[in-house]
Amino acid sequence: MPTMTLTPEEERENLERSIALANDYSAELYDGEGAPKTLVFDPETPVQFRRMLRALLEWDKSGSRNIQDLRLSREDRADLRKYTQQISMGVSPNGSYYVRDFPSPRWNEALHQFVRLLNNRQRAYLDGPCVNRKRHEGRDHWYLKKTKRWTEFCSKYCAGDATQANRRGKNYQKKIEKAAAAIRNYPTRPPRFRALTWQEYVIEDSRPARGKKPSISKKFLTMAVKSGRLIPPKVSTGAGFERV
Ligand SMILES: [Zn+2]
Repeated sequence: MPTMTLTPEEERENLERSIALANDYSAELYDGEGAPKTLVFDPETPVQFRRMLRALLEWDKSGSRNIQDLRLSREDRADLRKYTQQISMGVSPNGSYYVRDFPSPRWNEALHQFVRLLNNRQRAYLDGPCVNRKRHEGRDHWYLKKTKRWTEFCSKYCAGDATQANRRGKNYQKKIEKAAAAIRNYPTRPPRFRALTWQEYVIEDSRPARGKKPSISKKFLTMAVKSGRLIPPKVSTGAGFERV
């Protein structure tokens, strides 16, 4: 992993761009204050960033300083490796040392901001997602704060009904784990479920008993994938593996 020294301004910019990307559910990037939204990313870019950011903050909050404990998905780790291989360093004609971390053509805003975050000494000012997802349209909301102390809520407003929000947060996490387990089982599902898409299968699997209402909805799954909490299973198409 390359080490780079960011100026305080670059660190601040990295924090702001990270927040913008993490809270972007439209696949457009906020391109500086008042500027038009000119950068439109692959919809997967903010999703990948949220996934990696969650892993990074969990690692920070665990207190581990061992990069091996950073729990990125296999695909994200591979992407990160490919991306960092394109980062070049050198000495410019005026003698100053530089790091070029915007390799082309493999530009990827998620990886670009993530590598900078890894080297950002102000990273602890970034926090999230706010436990009170209900106040954020059911989305994971990331935020900047004034202190480096870890928090659970983005604001006093969101902390207002902390007990309820915490309970909802725990239920949400349980549902995510249940869905993740069903996704893992999807490739080896019983024959009677053969024709189901992965979403249909996860929903069926969440029925407490036959004829009972499923506890997981299609909307829940769509949002959980967008937030980067669930990764759709890979299915064999005969010509290799493909995301569905
Ligand atoms: Zn909040």
